[in-house]
Formats: sequence, C-alpha cells, structure tokens
Amino acid sequence: MSLSPEILLVEDEPAILNLLEFTLADKGFGLRKAMNALQARSAIDAKLPDLVILDWMLPGESGVQFARKLRADPRTRALPVIILTAKAEEPDKVMGLESGADDYITKPFSPRELIARVNALLRRRTPELGGERLTVGPLVLDTARHDVRVNDQVIALGAAEFKLLRFLMAHPERVFSRGRLLDQVWGDHAYIEERTVDVHVLRLRKALAEHNAEHLVQTVRGVGYRMTGND
Ligand code: CA
Repeated sequence: MSLSPEILLVEDEPAILNLLEFTLADKGFGLRKAMNALQARSAIDAKLPDLVILDWMLPGESGVQFARKLRADPRTRALPVIILTAKAEEPDKVMGLESGADDYITKPFSPRELIARVNALLRRRTPELGGERLTVGPLVLDTARHDVRVNDQVIALGAAEFKLLRFLMAHPERVFSRGRLLDQVWGDHAYIEERTVDVHVLRLRKALAEHNAEHLVQTVRGVGYRMTGND
C-alpha cells in the first residue's frame, strides 16, 4: 500500500498524457492512466483514486459528462476532479455547477502550475493527504514525516495502520462504516473483505495501547469506527 496520493489521469492525447505522467511521477504521486471515459470508469470501479485529472475533449463520453456521473454516484461524489481544457473552451463553462469539477487547468499548462493546483485541491478536499499535522487528543500525526507520536514518543505502525489512522484523525468524531473505510483508505471496496478493516483496527489499537491511547479509536456497534479526542 502506497502512502503517496494516487492520481488517475484521463487523457486521449499521448503527448499530454506523457507530460502529466512525467510531471506528477517526479513529485512522487502514484499514477494510473486511462484514455477515455470507459477506461476511467473501470479504473475507478477497481480502486478509488485520490484525485482525477480529466480531459474535457475525449473520444466518446466527454470529460464533463463523465465528471457529472462521478458526482451523481455516492461512492465518487467527493472525489476531487480537475478538468483539463483547451484554450478555446470557456472557464466559466467548465466551472459551472453542472460540470462537477473542483478546478480546471488550461492547456498548454506549466508543470509548476499543475503541481500547485493538484496540491491545493488535495489539501482542500483530503486533509489526510495535505502534508500537515493532525492532532487528536494526545496523538500528533505528521503527514510529511510519516510519523505519529504521543508525548513525543513515536508509535510504531505498519503502512496500512498509518494510513487508517491518518484518515480517522483527519475526520475526528465521525463514524465510518467498514465499506467506507475500505474505499477511502484502501481505495477498494470490491475486492477486499470488510473484516480486513477489523484486523487493521485491532493492530492499530494494539500499537496505541502501548501508549495508553487505544480508547481514541472507538467501535460503534453495528455501524463502524470513530476517532475521538473526548474520553
Ligand atoms: Ca483530448
């Protein structure tokens, strides 16, 4: 399991797809590629990415039509989407309520602008990926350093437990079902069994217990799990 955000690139022009890939891979993002809406759909069905960069003009279903469908589906409603447009297309059309995009980038784009837009959107929409400090009760998670501490002592966690904790700490006091956690943390609700979540919660609690902090991850019977800073 990768800790870096994963981006799905949907673009039919190979030269632009390569430029996107080169620019983003250089910054450590995980990448998957699709050349039309159909491929993008099966990529998303298999595994939820952290962000989608979507070309407007695709053969077959357009990027805007596809973005609208993503917004209509509860599983992908909150998925951050950046639309790529050619100069001739009007920004206000792209950003209109009906398009479903969070942001847009006009081609030709500079690599620096692309990275800045992607990072800004990730910070805004997925706080657990934003390169910040998250604090819940005595726990402090540093996303840039990839560590979690209690009273300045580092808690030893596996990659999956770290990612799970990071997600829960970014959304404290909210209850998440196992299915939702699989989607948001593992990016996959179709191929991984829900009891996988229980296994990792158990490991996470065991690690937290060594620092007397296991009570921060609560089981909500019949619903799922919640992170709480309140004792
Ligand atoms: Ca195109």
